[in-house]
Amino acid sequence: MKVLITGAAGFIGSHLCDRFLKEGFYVIGLDNFLTGSPDNIAHLFGEENFKFIKYDVTNYIYVPDDIDLVLHFACPASPVDYLQHPIHTMKVDSLGTLHTLGLAKAKKARYIFASTSEIYGDPQVHPQPETYWGNVNPIGPRSVYDEAKRFSEAMTMAYHREHHIDVRIVRIFNTYGPRMRLNDGRVVPNFISQALRGEDLTVYGDGSQTRSFCYIDDLVEGIFRVSVKEGIEGEVFNLGNPDEYRIIDFAKIIIEKTGSRSGIVFRPLPEDDPRQRCPDITKAKEVLGWEPKVSLDEGLENTIQYFKNKLKVL
Ligand code: NAD
Ligand code: UDP
Repeated sequence: MKVLITGAAGFIGSHLCDRFLKEGFYVIGLDNFLTGSPDNIAHLFGEENFKFIKYDVTNYIYVPDDIDLVLHFACPASPVDYLQHPIHTMKVDSLGTLHTLGLAKAKKARYIFASTSEIYGDPQVHPQPETYWGNVNPIGPRSVYDEAKRFSEAMTMAYHREHHIDVRIVRIFNTYGPRMRLNDGRVVPNFISQALRGEDLTVYGDGSQTRSFCYIDDLVEGIFRVSVKEGIEGEVFNLGNPDEYRIIDFAKIIIEKTGSRSGIVFRPLPEDDPRQRCPDITKAKEVLGWEPKVSLDEGLENTIQYFKNKLKVL
């Protein structure tokens, strides 16, 4: 079986490459290194079943190989990254989605789209089930990400309905772990690197907004199950950890776990920052038999160790 993974040099994409190789797949990774790094996949170069192509998926994609499965994971995912690359973000989740769907159609491959909890916007339903349609500001700064993901979901379903492609959509909630960029701006790398450097942790707003944090290994397990299960064409799954934290409490947890003397400073809340976010994972539990297994304690332990090593080599 051959799988093509876009965004292969990114945080989630690189872990997916590892997992699919371990499962005996031949893996073709595509990435243009916009927010990813060759370091994340350096250990795979020279692997017989791994091929990497440096490529921008907003361009037409030609791959000579037969392909059984396409995973479209390329896209800046940190709010700081997508606000820095607003047009590229819209292109990678419109043109990039179109091209990867076209590739899946040409190769008669199954297609998995990496969507996000952001399609629920600032949710008015809590926790968020897959049946919730969301509350997105279409012209706010975050819309470049949210609306591109919503467009991509619609495009994915259109290919399913018109061309009968076997598609599946995963709506990923905040995921963390090794290989996140130290400076990618998301809350986990920010807080951990600030704590390790002895700098004050920057809480945006009053910190009462909530997020639920899923460890990368749990997420990858969920994505793998969605990818290989039969009989779930056209289905959408929330994948995330339903343990919900206020950001202010999360900052205190990071200070305690790192043994840091850092304090907390408050910074303005970014525009349209969702107030509450927590996945309803009933469907993933029932259909995939999946739920997160890694505790926040254990996940943070691994992530803090990874960032400590990174900071040592800087
Ligand atoms: P990331 O920034 O680490 O990885 C994205 C990768 O895509 C990078 O390696 C980047 O270089 C690559 N890329 C960007 N534009 C490209 C292009 N035009 N052509 C080829 N490659 C391109 O982010 P991540 O956290 O690994 O996110 C991966 C996917 O999962 C994204 O689609 C994101 O929207 C989705 N997602 C992630 C989270 C999360 O918590 N990490 C949550 C929801 C959704
Ligand atoms: N956040 C924060 N301090 C930081 C970075 C982020 O308080 O240094 C907050 C941010 O405002 C949001 C939450 O943490 O409420 C999660 O932010 P992140 O950028 O990780 O992802 P989001 O869930 O907003 O996409």
